[in-house]
Amino acid sequence: MQTIAIIGGGFSGTLAAVNLTRFANSPHRIVIINSGRPFGRGTAYGTTRDEHLLNVAARNMSAFPDHPNHFVEWLRSRCDFDNLKDEVLREKFIPRRIYGDYVRGLATHYLGGADPRSQVECQVVEDSAIDIEPRGQNGGIVVLAQRGPIEANAILLATGNQPPSGLPGSAKLASDRRYCANPWMNWHEEIPSDDKHIVILGTGLTAVDVIVTLRNKGWNGKITAISRNGILPQRHFRGIEWPTAIPDDGQTRTLKELVKLIRQDCERLRNASQNPAIAVDKLRSRTQELWRALSVEEKRLFLTKYAADWNAIRHRIAGPIHDAITDALDCGQLTITSARIESLAAGESSIEVRLATGENGPAVINGDFVINCTGPKSRFSDSQIPLYSNLFNRGLAKPDGMDMGIEITDDFAVIVGDSLPSSCLYAIGPILKGTLWETVAVPELRQQAMSVAQTILKQKPIRWSTQDTIEYCI
Ligand SMILES: Cc1cc2nc3c(=O)[nH]c(=O)nc-3n(C[C@H](O)[C@H](O)[C@H](O)COP(=O)(O)OP(=O)(O)OC[C@H]3O[C@@H](n4cnc5c(N)ncnc54)[C@H](O)[C@@H]3O)c2cc1C
Repeated sequence: MQTIAIIGGGFSGTLAAVNLTRFANSPHRIVIINSGRPFGRGTAYGTTRDEHLLNVAARNMSAFPDHPNHFVEWLRSRCDFDNLKDEVLREKFIPRRIYGDYVRGLATHYLGGADPRSQVECQVVEDSAIDIEPRGQNGGIVVLAQRGPIEANAILLATGNQPPSGLPGSAKLASDRRYCANPWMNWHEEIPSDDKHIVILGTGLTAVDVIVTLRNKGWNGKITAISRNGILPQRHFRGIEWPTAIPDDGQTRTLKELVKLIRQDCERLRNASQNPAIAVDKLRSRTQELWRALSVEEKRLFLTKYAADWNAIRHRIAGPIHDAITDALDCGQLTITSARIESLAAGESSIEVRLATGENGPAVINGDFVINCTGPKSRFSDSQIPLYSNLFNRGLAKPDGMDMGIEITDDFAVIVGDSLPSSCLYAIGPILKGTLWETVAVPELRQQAMSVAQTILKQKPIRWSTQDTIEYCI
């Protein structure tokens, strides 16, 4: 019997296991190694807070590319959504914890062993994978932090995002209760009283999560959110049918040409009294292909010059969340500050957030509680995660050209040494960001989870056209 070890039991790892079970036609053993976040839920869907909503409408959140309506149908099995009309349910932004129930439920259904016809037996091991020892062409041995090693014929890395990187000075705050280094942990169980000031580092999706939680808990103190550009995510809206800005004519385009075409498209949309974000939405099914065709220099230029705006437009938030943020701004509870965070230091009565403000010298904002919402650490070559530093040292994986993840082939095989694909090591999920750019959300991950399962089973992956399954444009 072949053993497949999956490192990471969030959406990507769980769905890879589910697809292995769906497609295996000979006996297999799957071992999912997961630690840190709840199995089946991972970072995003491990939240227990009702106010944390999906930032993708229900119609686009099926876990299966070959069953695009699966999530909406699953929602129908819950009495709380039973009475909603189809067109209403499809457009709803469901609480993320319910999505966690969905993924966990799929794991129970497919991996729980209830189906006597299943060719797969599955085991979940609560532990951290810290290393992989190669066994030539015969797979590898996954070394765990606590338990004995696991021998496997194939190993899938589905470890998700790295935790947020530290900021200058933050290491000294590691045991300071006034500083939260990881916003995906339960910081909200102990918040200061209403007369205090909470400072959020970042103004993206995680900062939004924090703000809505504070409001949901009825916390009435002052909040300051700081980021370089001071841009908050935009509100979701239902778009219109619109032709894509980049013709699908097989031509390779430079970044300069792409920027010009997209800007022209935005202008056309404005002239038609439409939201220019539609230009970015329409590109979604082709973003990976366009990114791959850019040179490393162009990708770097994109990251420094355009990525912040791209992210703000692309990663939008549900209407009710946007309303809550707008209310917080309107009533003066929330202030957005645009500045580069220079360093953090422990003051006597508060945490000092030092900002670089150019000519006027550094400014300091004092927070009674400071939460790092600057997003996952991007750079990989200096990863503090033992698994990756060990894989790099052994030459079993290497950072991609952008140093934002690890390098892979089109079939998700990890590249070893100079250019050889590994015969047993695969990777999916956010660690492919440097290679694919658009690889963090369910609409892309479900396809990866299915394709990699079929590749590992030595079957020809069925590719579902994203255009057929996903209404990206509307
Ligand atoms: C707060 C938040 C909200 C989001 N909301 C949405 C949304 O609404 N819609 C959407 O499409 N996408 C959303 N996303 C994107 C999200 O990244 C993906 O949808 C998806 O959850 C990623 O799953 P993953 O399994 O790749 O990673 P993760 O969910 O991070 O899971 C990885 C798992 O592997 C574990 N792990 C890591 N290393 C090891 C190791 N060495 N040994 C053992 N275990 C390990 C981790 O602890 C974790 O449990 C959101 C992301 C975040 C962070």
